This record gives sequence, structure tokens and C-alpha cells, in this order.
Amino acid sequence: MKKRVLALLMAAVVALQLMGCKAEDANAAGKETRSSIKDMFQSAKENRADEKEASDVIGVDILEQNETDTDDEDTEVRYQDDYYEFVNQNLLSRIELAATDAHWDWFGELNAVVSSEMDDIIDELASDGKTYEKGSSEQKIKDMYECVTNMENREETGLGPLKPHMDSIRNASSIDEYVDALAHLSGEFGFSSIVGGYSIMQDKADSSEYAVYMLYADTLIGKEYVEGENTQEYMDLYLDYINNMLMEFGMTADEAAQSTDSIEGLLRDICESTLTTEQLYDPSMTYNVYTAQRLQELYTNVDVPKMLRTLRIDGQDKYIVMDVEQAKKINSLLVEENLQALKDYSTFVMLNDTAKYANANYAKLSDDMRNALYGITESWGDEKVWKNLTQDMLPWDFGMIYVKEHFSAEDKEAVEEMIEQILEEYETIINRQDWMSDATKKKAIRKLETMQVKIGYPDEWPAARDMMQVTPISEGGSLLSNLLVSMQVAIEDSLNKLGTKVDRSEWDVTPQTINAMYDPLNNEIIFPAAILQAPFYDSDNSYGANLGGIGFVIAHEVSHAFDSSGALYDEYGNYNVWWTDEELAEYKRMSQSIIEYYNNYEMMGVKVNGDLTLMENIADLGAMTCITSIIGNDARALDEAFGQMTYNWASEDTVSFMMYLLNTDTHSPNKVRVNAVLSSCDAFYKIYDIKETDGMYVAPEDRVGIWK
Ligand SMILES: [Zn+2]
Repeated sequence: MKKRVLALLMAAVVALQLMGCKAEDANAAGKETRSSIKDMFQSAKENRADEKEASDVIGVDILEQNETDTDDEDTEVRYQDDYYEFVNQNLLSRIELAATDAHWDWFGELNAVVSSEMDDIIDELASDGKTYEKGSSEQKIKDMYECVTNMENREETGLGPLKPHMDSIRNASSIDEYVDALAHLSGEFGFSSIVGGYSIMQDKADSSEYAVYMLYADTLIGKEYVEGENTQEYMDLYLDYINNMLMEFGMTADEAAQSTDSIEGLLRDICESTLTTEQLYDPSMTYNVYTAQRLQELYTNVDVPKMLRTLRIDGQDKYIVMDVEQAKKINSLLVEENLQALKDYSTFVMLNDTAKYANANYAKLSDDMRNALYGITESWGDEKVWKNLTQDMLPWDFGMIYVKEHFSAEDKEAVEEMIEQILEEYETIINRQDWMSDATKKKAIRKLETMQVKIGYPDEWPAARDMMQVTPISEGGSLLSNLLVSMQVAIEDSLNKLGTKVDRSEWDVTPQTINAMYDPLNNEIIFPAAILQAPFYDSDNSYGANLGGIGFVIAHEVSHAFDSSGALYDEYGNYNVWWTDEELAEYKRMSQSIIEYYNNYEMMGVKVNGDLTLMENIADLGAMTCITSIIGNDARALDEAFGQMTYNWASEDTVSFMMYLLNTDTHSPNKVRVNAVLSSCDAFYKIYDIKETDGMYVAPEDRVGIWK
């Protein structure tokens, strides 16, 4: 999910549970680091091919080590104490985060490789002097890159077609006029700040239909930072950023300082009544059905029928309000005495949403803010920023080019076989749960049997790709005008869908995405083409290693069908609680143990948030049960699977980026994902000699997991 408007992004996050880091953040490895790691990986592969005994083990062959190195006193890290460090020590000792990077892991590494291949395509098109057919991917990429890189044109464009909208916010003389201005911005382009943001998505109660979701307000840096205990320095950075953006917009230093203060006041007020990230995954909190009439009772300070007409979503039977308490708070803030503060808030949101596409000063402020937040000390530089932006603007055009060169039918078949096996194993796991009734087990198994699997890329490319046309500068286009076209396309596309049956064969993830997902509303798992490569999947690897690699990823996604959120959806993708009260109570009890178990882990001195990471931890724990159950008692294959899984989750982070992850990511930090899962895995103790005094040891009665 590339960043469009924050609210839309959040909506998408609610629908999809991602395996790795969010695409935007995972794009981390700098070019130099990247090539060296890539080379290292290649040579590691070649070395392995030469070794007979240990040829399948990608990390460290621990069984072998046991036999030969028992008296090696020099090894500082013992796998019995810290398996993650032990397996990854050589790899991590050779990774030095570049000044341009906040994070390194294999997702980011592969993403950077994909991105640099796409960069080569941009370079070729930019310099070939050819003219391409209007509407072809080549024409769109070529002309978009020109719009992105022509800073003179970006300067001249200013706010361009958005200027009248910005003016109507700035000049609003009443709450009515202010809300009307926001509704026009949201209805035409999808920009939302305080009220009037919406998204058309599958209806959770009947996922074969679309419904209108009224989105929550943009909370800027986010509730977790606004209210966090260790986040004041980041909050200060963000307030400086707001201040600088407003000055760039033309306010005097005094005006900007005053506006920043009032924006902060509103922000803190709104955040107090905003759901936490983990609550956003709970449909019992976010699926609140309103009629237009009840919506009017919720927003007493808004002319609701008028707003819905402007948004072009009037006449619906229902509107789903995602955060009712926040909506009540927003309504209470929509009074004349707050008018100036509200206008400033929405002004800043719009500047922030468009900064990357605006002139050099805005773009730099936005880039500097991101870097400061993540602890990056050096910018990527204009050229890489421009190329990334071009890729973000035309994701499906690049996707089509990507799959032409990077997709093997054989790999797809091998992975399909593994998925089959994992789904079967899950059936066995469900059948052995003594806390579930036979009727509930049947429903769970039905969910496995009907699970849709998407691998590689869509048979039909999304309509939005064709609808998105790029107007070159020579014909009056600009980066901003083309951005607005892409936003209008997204809105038209979703308005077209409203009232039609959901086409479940559609993809909303591009094939070049290095990630995997489970979508509860379609009861489907998705593996884009780009994840089917080493180190996640390698046809040269042993079966054990591939099970620890792509197998763990697959099993993790399947587990999401039965995590604390996914379990509330049935086989059709409808929000429909199919558990008995007793079973739900038992599920909750086990979840509580998992929360407390993960609360004990920490990174860089900060505790992991067991509540925030619950769903992902359930999925990780379930995945490990699944792949170790498939392997059974084969010690070598278990060793390979543990080693590979651990290797795939190796990562390096700046302190700031780790704080960002701990505050906002629903996954535990990678090191915890590995060690916490292995310490709760019985098979881990079977093949390794782990004693009570060892760091990895957890007593059998304290090991956690729902799917054991
Ligand atoms: Zn996940």
C-alpha cells in the first residue's frame, strides 16, 4: 500500500494484514549496502552448493555445530541463549546501515533490488528520445518522470488546481462553509482531514457487497506518538515541521507559531477520543452501521444531507462509522470558536498530503521530517526520490513490466503444492484442539477449504490502470495535476463499484510487492510474484529450508484467518461470530497469556506492546506449529527450517526507527518474532539442548499459542 491519503492508507491497513514491514518503510537498503549484501547472498549460495553435508542450511548448521564445536569457548553468542543473534551474527556483522537508511531486512533488501530494476527502466525511457503510443505504460512512465523531475514546472504549478479548494478552506467564514469546502475536496479528490472522509470497501456484514465507510480524522503523526511515554522528542520534531510548512505557505513566524499551537491543541483533543491501532482491527469497534438520519444525529453541527450529496454518496441505506467516539468528539469541535484552528488544521493536512508532489521547498521539508522521524541522517538524493515517486504514481504499469521478466510457472507450482500441504496440516491442528466443539471445528475447516489463493499477479489488470492517464508537461500537465487525476480515478473507480457485486478475483496488491497478505473479507491469501524469490523461496534449497522460508510466510498468512481479528469472519468473509461463548472466553484467556508473554520482551530498552502485536504474534506462533508439525521428527529438517526462518527475519534498525516500529507496527520487532516464537515451540527443545538456565528457555507450562 503506497501512501496516498493517510485516512485511505489506514483503511487499507484495516483490511489487509501484512507480513512484513509496510512497503513505504521497508524500502530501506542504500545502493552500496544493497549490492554488497546481494553479492554476499549470492556467494553464500554458491558456497553452500559446494558443501555436501550442509548444503541446504542457509543460516548456521546448528546440529553440525553441536557435533564439532562443543568445546569452542570463543563463541560469544550461544544459540541456547539467543538463537536469533547466533544464526544471524555473521550476516548482521557485515551490514552497516547507510546514512540514508533507517532499517535493513530482507523485505527491504529485495524491495530495493526491484526498485532499482524499475529505475533502470525509467532511465532507459527518459533517454531513448522515442515517442510512445498515448496510454501505453512507456508513455505514462516517461511523461510522469518528466513531470516529477521538472522542478521549475513544479514551482510554477504551486497549488495548481487545488488553489481554489485551499482558498475556500482559508476563506470559510462559518463552520458550514468550512465543512462544505472539506466535502468538495474529499468528494472530488479524496483528500480528507477532519470530517467527510470516506472509503468504499467491501461490506463486512456481507462481503459480496460494497459499503460506504466514514473514515476517521487524520491524526497527523498518530495517536501513539501524541500520547506515547517516550515520544516527546518526535512530537517536538513534528510540531517544528507543522510550523515550517505553514511558514512556507506564507504565514509569518508569529502566525505560524500560533497556528501550530492551536493545531496541537486540536490534535491532542481528537486523539483522546480516537481508537488505538489494535482497536482498529476489532470489527466490533469499527463496524458501526448508521442511516443518513442517524448520521445527522451523530453530526449535529453538520448539514449531513448536503455533505453526503457533495461527497456523491447520498441515498445509501447504510453508512459505516469507523470510530464513533472520535466522530462525537469531532462534532463537538465543529463550533465557530474553533473555526480558525480547524481551518489551520485542514490547511496543514492538505500541504502535508501534497508536499512530496509540490515545489522543492515543500518536498524537502517533507523528506527531512520523514528522515528525522526514522533516524535517517542523509537524504536519498533527488534522483532516487524522483524515481521512487514515479514508481509510486504508476504502480500497475510497473507491475506489468515486472511480471514479464520475473515470474516462473515452476516456482508457482512448487509454492502451490506447499500451500496445499499447509492447509491440510492446519486441518489436523484444528481437529486436535480439545477446547473447540465439533461444530466449530467444522466451520473452521470450511474456512480453510474455501480459502482463495492468489499467487503472482492478476489475470486481469485493474481498471484503474487504464483509467489513469498521464498528461505531459507539453500538453499542460504537471506532477500535481497528474496526482489529482490518479486520485480522481481512484474515487470514480470506487463509486463505479458501489451497488455492484464484489469481484473477488480483483487484486489490490501489485506483483512487485515484497510481501504476503491475508484478506479476511475475501478469506484469501495473496502472494505477489516478488515474494517468490530467495531467501524466502529458492528451488535449490532443501524442503526444510523452504518450509522455514516461504512455508513460514504462507502458514503465517493462513493463521491470520484464525487470529484474534480474522477469527471473527466466516468462510464468506463476513463479520460473523461463529464461536460459542465458552470458546471465545477460552480464546481470550489464551490471548491474554500471549499478550503477557510478549510484554516481557524488549528492544533497545523499550518493552514490546503485547496488545498491539497480538494478531501478528498469534499468526507467528500458529505458523511455527504448522511447519514443525509438517516436518515431524526429522531433526535435520527442523534445524534447517528454524535456521532459515531466523535468517529471513534478520534486521538492523536505527534507534528512532525501532521506536517507530514499537509504537505503531502490529508486528513484534524481528528479533522478538524469532526468539519468542522458538522459545514457545516444543520442537525447538526436542532437537536442541536447551537447559533451564539458558536464555531461550521457557518452562513448558509458560509456552503460549492458540494453535498448538
Ligand atoms: Zn501478519
